[in-house]
Amino acid sequence: QPSSLSGLPAGVGEALEAEGVAELYPPQQAAVEAGVVDGDSLVAAVPTASGKTLIAELAMLSAIERGGKALYIVPLRALASEKKTEFERWEDHGITVGVSTGNYDSDGEWLATRDIIVATSEKVDSLIRNGAPWIDDLTCVVSDEVHLVDDSHRGPTLEVTLAKLRKVNPGLQTVALSATVGNADVIADWLDAELVESDWRPIDLRTGVHFGNAIDFDDGTKREVPVDRGEDQTARLVADALDTEEDGQGGSSLVFVNSRRNAESSARRLADVTASRLTDAERDDLRELAEEIRGVSDTDTSEDLADAVERGSAFHHAGLASDHRSLVEDAFRDRLIKCISATPTLAAGVNTPARRVIVRDWRRYDGEFGGMKPLDVLEVHQMCGRAGRPGLDPYGEAVLLANDADTKDELFERYVWAEAEPVRSKLAAEPALRTHVLATVASGFASTRNGLLSFLDNTLYATQTDDEGRLAAVTDTVLDYLAVNGFVDRDRDGGTESLTATGIGHTVSRLYLDPMSAAEMIDGLRTVARNAAGAGTEGETGEFVRTGDDDGDEPGFGTYTRPGNDESPAEETEGTDEEGTEASAVTPLGLYHLVSRTPDMYELYLKSGDRETYTELCYERETEFLGDVPSEYEDVRFEDWLASLKTARLLEDWANEVDEDRITERYGVGPGDIRGKVDTAEWLLRAAETLARDVEGVDGDTVVAVREARKRIEYGVREELLDLAGVRNVGRKRARRLFEAGVETRADLREADKGVVLGALRGRERTAERILEHAGRENPSMDGVRADKSASAAAT
Ligand code: ADP
Repeated sequence: QPSSLSGLPAGVGEALEAEGVAELYPPQQAAVEAGVVDGDSLVAAVPTASGKTLIAELAMLSAIERGGKALYIVPLRALASEKKTEFERWEDHGITVGVSTGNYDSDGEWLATRDIIVATSEKVDSLIRNGAPWIDDLTCVVSDEVHLVDDSHRGPTLEVTLAKLRKVNPGLQTVALSATVGNADVIADWLDAELVESDWRPIDLRTGVHFGNAIDFDDGTKREVPVDRGEDQTARLVADALDTEEDGQGGSSLVFVNSRRNAESSARRLADVTASRLTDAERDDLRELAEEIRGVSDTDTSEDLADAVERGSAFHHAGLASDHRSLVEDAFRDRLIKCISATPTLAAGVNTPARRVIVRDWRRYDGEFGGMKPLDVLEVHQMCGRAGRPGLDPYGEAVLLANDADTKDELFERYVWAEAEPVRSKLAAEPALRTHVLATVASGFASTRNGLLSFLDNTLYATQTDDEGRLAAVTDTVLDYLAVNGFVDRDRDGGTESLTATGIGHTVSRLYLDPMSAAEMIDGLRTVARNAAGAGTEGETGEFVRTGDDDGDEPGFGTYTRPGNDESPAEETEGTDEEGTEASAVTPLGLYHLVSRTPDMYELYLKSGDRETYTELCYERETEFLGDVPSEYEDVRFEDWLASLKTARLLEDWANEVDEDRITERYGVGPGDIRGKVDTAEWLLRAAETLARDVEGVDGDTVVAVREARKRIEYGVREELLDLAGVRNVGRKRARRLFEAGVETRADLREADKGVVLGALRGRERTAERILEHAGRENPSMDGVRADKSASAAAT
């Protein structure tokens, strides 16, 4: 019984029992026996929903009871707040919880007072780089979904972060939670931890394949689910689950598909199945929920989602706004939404179990692979693991779909009977090491090449590899890169080579930039500086430096002159005086392009026709780009450049107040993607502003231009709305309507006629009151105020 556990804060055991934890699950029991409440390190490799979180809680709470402090590392930002809310129930027992999200460049000092801190691995990495003082006080660290060390983008960060935490604090208890993988023992070996490995699940899971008229399950049972000619296999299986009542309730389904578009169309199709099986009460609740969904944003995605939800079906993918996502997840858990069609992102972490999981697509398009590629076993197992809600369903069913007998056999071999792949470290790759080597040197974890290599010896990579020279070789390549770009100074003194981060190297590490992003931005900013220098001389002499062709570059077909290069100011060909001094003017598009072509901004792909569109745009706006435009003949580089231009153009649209809907349409992205781009651009422009101060020759005007471009991205507005949009609750659309009605600034909001404000805000009294309050108006009450009709007319 939990209450008989010793070493926990008073009342915790009883509270667990009150929650329905009558006894520990077998893997939890094994964890306790392995010493998890006594401060021992542990790797728990057990299936989804088998109570891993409680293992972590036991570790953290007992560590705190001993006077320590705990850190819980999550793989996704969305999980950070979910976990924080979960842990906050311990506040009644005197435990404080803090979550660290937001900017990557602060040291989160306030977290020093918290007992439990929740953060992503990237955030922890940046906190270490920024010297967060409380890092030294940690006594327990939990790494959730540790098998993601296998991920080539994010895995290395987790690996290095754990190595750093363990180096700072040699006695640190490390608890790693993992899905069942092929080599959990290697992870345990790496972390010097005990291993608890188990296939135990709190609720029976049957996995099978549907083909023809039945599902064949791995336990030898068979379930007849006949599919009529022309009938949709997935729809039939969703209907079958809903029509099978257990405890008076039909079962909900989670359908995994391979793309966002498929998730949306599947949700639409399956709404026909769910709609006919709703009670009147459910219909009413769903209508209300649909309204709430429409209220989040007025985009097509929002509308499509609401339409499906109204009928009891939903889609879920990374393109959704986070409010949409949580509304859908909550309603699914409340059994109001009967079916979710999701991309695999939902399988990782988010707690949304269903009675039946249907893996409709087991292949997905892979750009690097150049075609359809089968999903990893681990991924499919995690999807299947979402089947069965403890306490709600008597069992869980996971079903893969086959159209022919051969595929059925293949699916059994490949997924049902197969063990998950072993995880493999992805650390020994240049992009990963570039950033981590710089940070390791900058934060003082290593000051010589040998020190660096011995630090890297504490990683999973070193535990796994039999090619010892590889890591050293990549490290040396990376050190060369960092030295050439002025981020690290190397000094050879006899046999030892000492390493120090330069001033700018420190800045780059703290800003959490990929050094290659920093180099690109610094290069772009230098162009501005060179330009400014050029423009300055021109301004004084009133003459143009003769430029253009004398650098040997014939500005002819397929070759771009470097715009703003001091040898060929683009304005020169125009030959007018006024434009001479404009040579240094930096435009938002130029800056957006600069940050969009860094490796820290993930790419928008060029679709058919895009190449022409953006090539044309590239010519049109040629003078605005900071740095060389590659020649059209450099195929790959040029394509990359255009893809960045597409992103830059999206950002420019956003800052020009183009409707979200219009943007999603024009670029083929979801509203969540716009948010992602905007957030990343905001962060990178903030970093660019800091770097601009360090680059010689960049003047104050440029720094201001960068700041303004960033603010316009932050609020999604033109310059004249920056003041208004900065008022809480205003936002880009309302700011525009207020402006059109003559309320142009924050100060205006304090003085303006209330009827005009209310009219511009389309008669929404509560909103108007809140906005006036945030603008600092004495008496924001709208009691008895009548909306000015002309103001709302002006606003449309
Ligand atoms: P995992 O993290 O392994 O995916 P969770 O920790 O989310 O799984 O656990 C799934 C569910 O099981 C949670 O709702 C949790 O409250 C419940 N649970 C965990 N341990 C026990 C237990 N010993 N007895 C009863 N319920 C439990």
